[in-house]
Amino acid sequence: MAKLSIVVPCYNEQETIPLFYPAVEKVVRQMPVETEYWFVNDGSSDQTLAELRKLHDQNPERVHYVSFSRNFGKEAGLYAGLEATTGDYVVVMDADLQDPPEYLPEMYQEISSGEYDCVGMRRTDRKGEAKFKSFLSNQFYNVINKISDTKIVPGARDYRMMTRQMVDAVLSLKEYNRFSKGIFNWVGFKTKYLPYKNVERVAGTTDWSTWKLFKYAIDGITDFSEAPLSIATWIGGLSAFIAVIGIIVVVIRHFMAPAGSAFGWASLVCIMLFIGGVQLFCLGIVGRYIGKIYIQTKKRPIYIVKEKK
Ligand code: UDP
Ligand code: MG
Repeated sequence: MAKLSIVVPCYNEQETIPLFYPAVEKVVRQMPVETEYWFVNDGSSDQTLAELRKLHDQNPERVHYVSFSRNFGKEAGLYAGLEATTGDYVVVMDADLQDPPEYLPEMYQEISSGEYDCVGMRRTDRKGEAKFKSFLSNQFYNVINKISDTKIVPGARDYRMMTRQMVDAVLSLKEYNRFSKGIFNWVGFKTKYLPYKNVERVAGTTDWSTWKLFKYAIDGITDFSEAPLSIATWIGGLSAFIAVIGIIVVVIRHFMAPAGSAFGWASLVCIMLFIGGVQLFCLGIVGRYIGKIYIQTKKRPIYIVKEKK
């Protein structure tokens, strides 16, 4: 019998884990697979670890967890979880039941037929999400798919089932700053997406504010951020903005003022500011990439484990 590993990154999920586990169990018990769970406690500040210990004690053979020394982020959690798995197939799921377990049999059926290396779930709507957030995320997909060779399927979540071969490929990418949505596509392999309707989280709150999502998007695009280096970007952007306003004022005044009034110095200052701003802006972008190289050359581990069972 094939073995299915279930990877679940958890950050402050004390309320959802007791709901998640029985819901998934109910489904996988009906499936022709052996299962193992790998929960990753990503430095939660609530009782998440206690919940995981409880589950492990009830089921020491099948339920395992990795607990980080601090919060390393969902991407690191995914990596740690994938690394720990031993199954022939691996599925990645959120703890908040936003990735409905009811789809597991269908995913398994598709992937075990051997035609696909990966079966992912794709949201076809964003019900329950703020309009502005949906707009931003649509723009994000537009931009990244325009400027990057690695295409990202709009609405694709991290909820996906992969073959061992694909998991090993994902793990072979050792980059420190992990943008999973990109990595899953970068490794290639044949992926099938099943559509589904958005589900809201069962309990707890999402950790993803609009600003955090925005930063995540920038990281996905430039693949990094180094705060001090990016200051140049902001200063540059601001002075370029002021300069644009200045240019508009100068042009308007030129046509309003009586002919012959000398105004050259003002337009010169504006142009200088504008060019200077653009230069700093570009430097900031270069800085972001250098920051990425800087972090990577330190070869820091992606996560630190405090406890593993
Ligand atoms: N998560 C994590 N580390 C973090 C933030 C989130 O492991 O720093 C986990 C979280 O527990 C959940 C999943 O990642 O299982 C998705 O998080 P969330 O539901 O907050 O995001 P959303 O569904 O809104 O994208
Ligand atoms: Mg969620």
